Amino acid sequence: MPVQLSVVVPCFNESEVVDVFHAALTAVLEPMGASYEICYVDDGSDDGTVKRLRALAASAATVRYTSFSRNFGKEAALLAGLRMSRGDAIVLMDADLQHPPVLLPRMLALHRLGYDQVVARRDRTGEGPLRRALSRGYYRLVRSFTDVGIVDGAGDFRLLSRRAVDSVLSLPETNRFSKGLFSWIGFDTVSFSYRNAPRAAGRSKWGGRRLVEYGIDGLLSFNSRPLRLAIHAGLWLFLSALGYALWIVTNAVLNGVDTPGYATLIAAVVALSGIQLATLGVIGEYVGRIYHESKRRPHYVVRETDDAAAGQSTGPAPTAAGSLRTDP
Ligand code: UDP
Ligand code: MG
Repeated sequence: MPVQLSVVVPCFNESEVVDVFHAALTAVLEPMGASYEICYVDDGSDDGTVKRLRALAASAATVRYTSFSRNFGKEAALLAGLRMSRGDAIVLMDADLQHPPVLLPRMLALHRLGYDQVVARRDRTGEGPLRRALSRGYYRLVRSFTDVGIVDGAGDFRLLSRRAVDSVLSLPETNRFSKGLFSWIGFDTVSFSYRNAPRAAGRSKWGGRRLVEYGIDGLLSFNSRPLRLAIHAGLWLFLSALGYALWIVTNAVLNGVDTPGYATLIAAVVALSGIQLATLGVIGEYVGRIYHESKRRPHYVVRETDDAAAGQSTGPAPTAAGSLRTDP
């Protein structure tokens, strides 16, 4: 029987909530009347999350799971989940109950109206003012810098149609910034917002540093505009330096002014080398990305799975370590 709805859930050290989450999710899915499946992806947890997933998968035929050999990050986990999914509509959601399962019927209803992407946007209730201001500023920066529209609060809680998922899976890049990928593929998108809820239990895995790295990824993944900015800055500096030099020369010739200028000189040298360093950094970042992409490594390594299509395993028994997934 074809599956109508797949729910993809990345889990990293979520043993405290995953059972509660599963209960809440099935409580919503059962009465919906659609045939469904739940694809859990354990992102290399070390707190026994995988044991719980194994148990959940053994208890219901609608549940499958994949477990990574180490932590590969949420983007990799989402990718694995999307590859596992077979449904006509696919919902991505977090395991910590910050994405309320009760919104699923509404998302599916919107999908049935013909939308390929249904985005549930959280508001920023319960976040500190600093974090709120920073995220707002960041999204503004990303929007003005890149060609893809990324909306504040639109996280990874979304429903995708089968063809949208297939197009996301057809993108070959190694560095996956899914917010950008989802926006890049296009299709009709609709969004609605819901009240942000705090995590049910456990800890958030996004510390300040990880968020900053994620932010840089978002800025650089989608175009080369930062490089162009470097060119512009360089050009303007060159022009103003040229103007300044001309002025000094004319001044010396016409008025015979001796030019005492070592302070200006040092200031100019320091400013220029600062800009050069920053520009080099930007270039280096892109070169690093090219290097990274050119290695063509798989996005993750599967330790065990009960998904017959993934890895080499058949049936519910966990496989031995190390079935390596590459692009299909
Ligand atoms: N997650 C993951 N791998 C990671 C970090 C997070 O699979 O390396 C999962 C995590 O288990 C959760 C979701 O991504 O289901 C969102 O993580 P979290 O709640 O920590 O992020 P926040 O809600 O604080 O942004
Ligand atoms: Mg969370």
